[in-house]
Amino acid sequence: MVKSDPPPGVLRYNDQLPPRMKSMAAFGSAFAAKKISSSYQNGQWSAPEIAALDDLSMHPAAHVLHYGSTCFEGMKAYRRDDSGVHIFRLGRHVQRLRNSAEMLCLPQPPAELIDSMLRQLVIDLKDAVPEFPGSLYLRPTLIGVDANIGSAAKPSSDALLYILASPVGDYFSGGAKPLRLLVDDQHMRATPEFGQVKTGGNYAAALRHTMQARQKYNADQVLFCPGGNVQETGAANFILIHDKTILTKPLDGSILPGITRDSLLKIAADTGYTIDERNFDVAELLDRAATSEAALSGTAAVLASVGTLLYNDREYTVGDGQIGPKTRELRAQLSAIQSGQAEDQYKWRTDLS
Ligand SMILES: *Cc1c(COP(=O)(O)O)cnc(C)c1O
Repeated sequence: MVKSDPPPGVLRYNDQLPPRMKSMAAFGSAFAAKKISSSYQNGQWSAPEIAALDDLSMHPAAHVLHYGSTCFEGMKAYRRDDSGVHIFRLGRHVQRLRNSAEMLCLPQPPAELIDSMLRQLVIDLKDAVPEFPGSLYLRPTLIGVDANIGSAAKPSSDALLYILASPVGDYFSGGAKPLRLLVDDQHMRATPEFGQVKTGGNYAAALRHTMQARQKYNADQVLFCPGGNVQETGAANFILIHDKTILTKPLDGSILPGITRDSLLKIAADTGYTIDERNFDVAELLDRAATSEAALSGTAAVLASVGTLLYNDREYTVGDGQIGPKTRELRAQLSAIQSGQAEDQYKWRTDLS
């Protein structure tokens, strides 16, 4: 039987391909040929199964399609020079998925289940983990599948947990340009308690503002600052580096507890930075911009430099508008631990081979 071709633009590359893939498709658009899944029915999780990455089949009334019962994670597996592979901060990601599930009243997969599914999949796809600076991005996804459109105010009792794997390259390799952020003090990215949840609804709600910022201001992203409180962008945490101090909003439920953020703050603290985790407003941000570096943190890009802030039709250059030396250095330090080049002093890597 001939398998149907993947949709245009989607590369279905399989684990037979050599790992030395240098040219990568755009982030998130190429997938390994397999996924792993477990379903929750009658109060039980099924034994995880690795299978071909075929289309999902579900009832058109599935809870997730109507009432947004979905959450996900994003983490990376890396190939080391000795050709071993490891997952970065596995336990933290497992914990955060469980927290998201709980907030959404979805069946909460046991930590051991998520952990073992991630390990099994990466071991199975070992040869498809690209060499550093590439990595294998892992996307655990949990959805509610009850077929009942009368369940708007009821949780889904059945669920599906699956993990996609996507080989990715290095965001910085193309000589990344510092980002332009629209500082928006009018809109919220997420509700004050749901900002901590990695759930589809948050991205859907933020999208319109991001699109408008692109069209009207040629901005790359929106820095959401509801009521003046500087929070984060649609999918990354925000830090301001001022002298030897890192200023960033504390985790209060309204922003995503980024694991890259956490890792960077630990490394920075241990290399002599003062971590100033507190609420700050747009006025202070703009006031400090000229003498600071600013960056966005997240698993996909690690640390991306912010060169310009746009507010009330004015442009504020951050530092000299280029990628700052402190941003570069912090990113290099974290990347070295992630890739296996530096010692794993924080025990952040889970070796699989
Ligand atoms: C995923 C995400 C982040 C970054 O989290 P990491 O654990 O560092 O990848 C930040 N903000 C939002 C809204 C996110 O979805």
